[in-house]
Amino acid sequence: MKVEDVKKVAVIGFGTMGSGIAQVFALAGYEVVARDVTNEFLERGLNLIKNGPFGLNKAVEKGRLKKEDAEAALSRIKTTTDLAEAVKEADIVIEAVFENMDLKKQVFKEADENAPPHAILASNTSTLSITAIAAATKRPQQVVGMHFFNPVPVMRLVEVVKGLATSDEVVEVVKQLATKLGKTPIVCKDVPGFVANRLAFPYLAEAIRLYEMGVASAEDIDTAMKLGYNFPMGPLELIDLIGLDVTLDILETLYKETGQSTFCPPVLLRQMVRAGWLGRKTKKGFYTYQ
Ligand code: NAD
Repeated sequence: MKVEDVKKVAVIGFGTMGSGIAQVFALAGYEVVARDVTNEFLERGLNLIKNGPFGLNKAVEKGRLKKEDAEAALSRIKTTTDLAEAVKEADIVIEAVFENMDLKKQVFKEADENAPPHAILASNTSTLSITAIAAATKRPQQVVGMHFFNPVPVMRLVEVVKGLATSDEVVEVVKQLATKLGKTPIVCKDVPGFVANRLAFPYLAEAIRLYEMGVASAEDIDTAMKLGYNFPMGPLELIDLIGLDVTLDILETLYKETGQSTFCPPVLLRQMVRAGWLGRKTKKGFYTYQ
């Protein structure tokens, strides 16, 4: 298959990431069918695309997008609660359901049974093994990671993850596809955390350990990295944005998979999650929000 043969895209899971992925594909001219489990979730996803902080209306308001282009993009997105219906004409299926291996395997098995034989099956997983997900299908050579970053319409990176069985041709198509969306792809092997999270999470964990040891205040730790390294955000602010629960989940998976102590979740992080201090979404994390 060539990148020009990709015209129809199915997005499975229409939450934070799935809605962003549908939005960028539709803006680039692709026909998108999005699937979630209820009509209510489909409505929520569509609303994010229209009215979300990174949605089409905001882009029109800011003068970055013409109103007619926003309307045309929206008209290219269809929704359904039926997975078989969503994938039946797809050239590529992109999965963005919850980060749970059993669920992902089930989705890939059903997508494999119902998508055309030529279709590529891609996962947006942050930490799970593409090779393991591919083993749930009869076309592991066409299963690949296409890892977008949050918020999808803004973040420019896509990690293209090559599972043990993924063909070079499929990697090439997905790389070119990411470029057509205005993103920059990098290619990596299927290792826990891929490249970006593998590098970022030991850093985030170490920032929590420094705070836990009382080495410096949260503000000073963040200032060190913003002014010393020109990072746009400090590590503790970033964890508050990602969510302390999500940070803990990712560290636990990386620690379990690699056994490397750099990924071992700090005790304080676990305690804060138990206390319900999850960051911005609960108005309390390393900082307090109004
Ligand atoms: P989310 O909870 O916002 O969305 C997941 C959606 O999947 C929900 O709407 C849920 O109803 C739906 N869903 C569950 N089971 C389904 C099924 N069988 N079929 C169709 N839809 C189903 O989660 P998210 O943050 O968008 O994360 C999705 C994936 O993207 C995860 O694998 C996550 O690791 C990855 N990811 C997340 C981020 C992030 O910052 N949020 C960044 C990169 C990658």
